[in-house]
Amino acid sequence: MKLGITILGATGSIGSSSLDVISRHPQRFQVFALTAQSRVDALVELCVRFRPEVAVIGDSALETQLRAALRARGLTTQARSGAQALAEVAADERVQIVIAAIVGAAGLLPTLSAARAGKRLLLANKEAIVCAGSLLMEAVRSGGAQLLPVDSEHNAIHQCLVGAADRARDVRRLILTASGGPFRTRTDLSAITPDEACAHPNWVMGRKISVDSATLMNKGLEVIEASWLFGFAPERIDVVIHPQSVIHSMVEFGDGSVLAQLGTPDMRTPIAYCLGFPERVESGSGTLDFLKVAALTFEAPDLTRFPCLQLAYQALSASPAASIAVNAANEVAVEAFLSHRLPFSRIAAVIEETLNQTPMCRPAAVDEVIALDAQARQRAAAVIGRSLHPAPAGLLAN
Ligand code: NAD
Ligand code: MG
Repeated sequence: MKLGITILGATGSIGSSSLDVISRHPQRFQVFALTAQSRVDALVELCVRFRPEVAVIGDSALETQLRAALRARGLTTQARSGAQALAEVAADERVQIVIAAIVGAAGLLPTLSAARAGKRLLLANKEAIVCAGSLLMEAVRSGGAQLLPVDSEHNAIHQCLVGAADRARDVRRLILTASGGPFRTRTDLSAITPDEACAHPNWVMGRKISVDSATLMNKGLEVIEASWLFGFAPERIDVVIHPQSVIHSMVEFGDGSVLAQLGTPDMRTPIAYCLGFPERVESGSGTLDFLKVAALTFEAPDLTRFPCLQLAYQALSASPAASIAVNAANEVAVEAFLSHRLPFSRIAAVIEETLNQTPMCRPAAVDEVIALDAQARQRAAAVIGRSLHPAPAGLLAN
């Protein structure tokens, strides 16, 4: 029997890499549902190619347009919309695998829904685990789901840990590699444009994660992600800059052995690993040419130029509410940067100020996570507003 798949965020970078791998295995996988936030045309094109039972558009105002476009193409795919529909296609009984590839905390509810329904959950949407780590891990346990990380670093660690008898006890530390992003060697970070920030040296990705890679917040979010996925305290998660992006991450065991996973920088490899696990299936990725790579180099992250990484460590040590605040403030700041409302060099300051205003607490339910996320977004927006329109000196004196 073919395995039914729902892709949350099918029109994105991870969505399209996933569909590329899936299309190589028509006997094994069948797409059940595809979702997108607002790009109706792109979603319909994917439906023409993959013939899913259901297509969901996040923005409900576009449902009629989606339905008409599907009919016009002669498709029987059912058109649905909104948060409830996203959660339902993630939990549908005809689905065995859910690929969580929505960007941002917006992906949290359908990701939780897949976990509660006991699916094989391929997690790319790191913001979901960053802001609701304990709730997501608990939903995976109670729902009987199988959580497999798509993020290349966590996927590498998963590969290195397979067969480790007792993950936490036998391991000294996890070592996440980071490319260092497009500004690794740039000293002046003042006049950076969105297009420069999105021009990643090794990976082609969505714009938000590309900016996160440029600030190193991506690595910060990944430290938090690794902590929840593998049950490690922040002291046992290290980050090393590795500009070639050939080693995707490493695990150091108690006996001093270090295992690394290597490959070309192509997200189809970790996606195929998760889709086929424990088997290995064809991904379409190229062969790693060691002679072309020639050298693998390593350096320490520069926390003065890239304070976001440090902020994420701080948040992880402080409280779950701090992780929510860092993630939410980052989403707001990156959006402001991408729409030319905030300089690149101010992103970290917005996150830090928001974090400083955040009361520490541990949300016990998803509604509390959503409320804390909303509060942090408001705080971050206010910080950005203040930095654009500083109060006149007279007002400050009062
Ligand atoms: P992207 O921007 O290319 O795609 C995002 C997808 O999410 C799109 O299909 C979009 O329609 C959908 N979406 C956006 N906002 C939504 C909302 N509010 N509600 C519902 N759907 C929404 O992003 P991406 O690069 O594919 O990244 C997706 C996730 O995977 C992110 O969390 C990212 O951090 C993670 N990730 C990406 C890569 C990569 O190589 N691109 C690598 C590791 C992890
Ligand atoms: Mg990654």
